Amino acid sequence: MAYESRQAWIDQVRQQVDIVEVVGRYVVLQRKGRHWWGLCPFHTEKTPSFSVDPDQQLFYCFGCHQGGTVFTFVMKMEGRDFREAVEMLAQEVGVALPAARAEKGDADQRLRVVMEWSLEFFRDQYRRHVSQLEPYLRQRGVAAEMVERFMIGYAPEGWRGLLEVLSRRGVKLEDMVSAGVVVQKDSGQAYDRWRGRLMFPIWDAEGRVVAFGGRALMDGQDPKYLNSPETPLFHKSRLLYASHLARPMWRRGRAALVVEGYFDVVACHQAGLTQAVAPLGTALGEMHARWLARFTNEVDLMLDQDGAGQEAMRRAFLTLTSVGLKVNVVRLPEGVKDPSELVERFGEEALVKQVAQKVPFIEDQIRHLARYPGLLSPRGRSEAVDRVKPLIQAIQDPVERTGYLELLAKTLSVHPQILTHSFGSWQGVRHTIGKNRHNMGVMVPQRRGVPSLEVRILAALKSHPEYVERVRQAMPEWANSERIRHLLDLMVNGQIEKVGPGDEAWSDPESASLYAAVLEWAEPDGGGTAIDEWIEWWKRQELRERYKRLQERARLGEISAEELEEIRRLGSRMGQDSYRKEG
Ligand SMILES: [Zn+2]
Repeated sequence: MAYESRQAWIDQVRQQVDIVEVVGRYVVLQRKGRHWWGLCPFHTEKTPSFSVDPDQQLFYCFGCHQGGTVFTFVMKMEGRDFREAVEMLAQEVGVALPAARAEKGDADQRLRVVMEWSLEFFRDQYRRHVSQLEPYLRQRGVAAEMVERFMIGYAPEGWRGLLEVLSRRGVKLEDMVSAGVVVQKDSGQAYDRWRGRLMFPIWDAEGRVVAFGGRALMDGQDPKYLNSPETPLFHKSRLLYASHLARPMWRRGRAALVVEGYFDVVACHQAGLTQAVAPLGTALGEMHARWLARFTNEVDLMLDQDGAGQEAMRRAFLTLTSVGLKVNVVRLPEGVKDPSELVERFGEEALVKQVAQKVPFIEDQIRHLARYPGLLSPRGRSEAVDRVKPLIQAIQDPVERTGYLELLAKTLSVHPQILTHSFGSWQGVRHTIGKNRHNMGVMVPQRRGVPSLEVRILAALKSHPEYVERVRQAMPEWANSERIRHLLDLMVNGQIEKVGPGDEAWSDPESASLYAAVLEWAEPDGGGTAIDEWIEWWKRQELRERYKRLQERARLGEISAEELEEIRRLGSRMGQDSYRKEG
């Protein structure tokens, strides 16, 4: 699986790296709207004008106008060249260099084959034991169609079923162990990881099988779920079960629905809620949250409703909110443990209905307070406030936050002002990611400082490509220089947003900065008039420079009679104009 080209390798690295995460190691970032903001590491400032755009995977400083891709950022921060920057990040995400790729590629490829063959084995075993397994699945409300879609399999009793099948196909024991399907003791003795379990293949985001989850079938079989260990292919802190099936729905604008386990995901998909995913034996963590934020703005949580589930939901809410996601909660009817049980007992429609009745998480929490027994006493009310306070503080949108404060006041029958007072001088809570969290107060993004005329013209042309031709005629030398011509072409073809950061043109920091500036800088729309004005301004600047050059040459006595005449002409023209100074 060697990379076809250097470009393919660069693209691969770029796709695997999250610019917010990388920048967050050096700069404390807070999310505001679509962007993350922080103090610019490239110039000194007290209020943040440095932005990271997760959609475009670009950074751009509205103060000093430096910008670029994640590679440009690493180049500048670490003083590396383009290749070194790509290599550094490649190593981190495990996308090996083209040269080293072959070896690692071979190893990964071998493990993928082991996973495929293991899946085949479990599927085959399922068919052989179908009469025993089907009643169990039917009782859990799983339709035959779902068994196919989720490729549910079976690991038979016995110790060496899979091991022997793989051996016969020539798989080395070390590869079986490395893939996590076979366990080897210190004594050297090896055996199948799963026995007597229902097997759920786990796919990565690209839909390749990277792990398995085994569900116990008998009471007392411990643990209830036995997942693959971390392997070179499987990183559970990043992965959500069924994400490759759910992603298309998120793209179409459906909120991600996070449930607890395999059966819950299957139940949701069976009910047509194909936006459902589940974490894999871990809590919903920061990596999950950031990954989700790349595809959706909103997450619906439908987790277990017991005490532990409530606590998990609060933590998930805080994690998801910290990356700017909106969080709703889906309650289950009294006495129903999880979505799977709901479908089992009341059918798919009941589940769909329940999800449609989702409410914003905080609203749900406040409504629940109303049932809090101590609420009648002053102390009880105070406790209730303490309980929801951190949740309300986590909300970044001031309008939404105020709304919840009012709802809370109403629920507790307290005057809203008293509540505001109890929340103290707090203005909003800091959301910081990255290793170097330190106290820096509330951030208000600043958009100050105007970029170069070049950037402003290009940014204006971005929304008025019909002016490109005029600019080309007025400023041919500039418009035909290599990088500008490329940008103008993209605008004319309506492809400017697609100047992929993988383009080799980005490897030069200056071009990268220009591209990022043009994509990120929104020029107040003055329409075509503004562009005309700029062309004038630009021309005058050119004239002024020409004048300066001629004067210099005149001083050195290197000037011809015609040029002398030109100086005179330029001088009088410039005297008439009173033009603004640059910048
Ligand atoms: Zn800056």
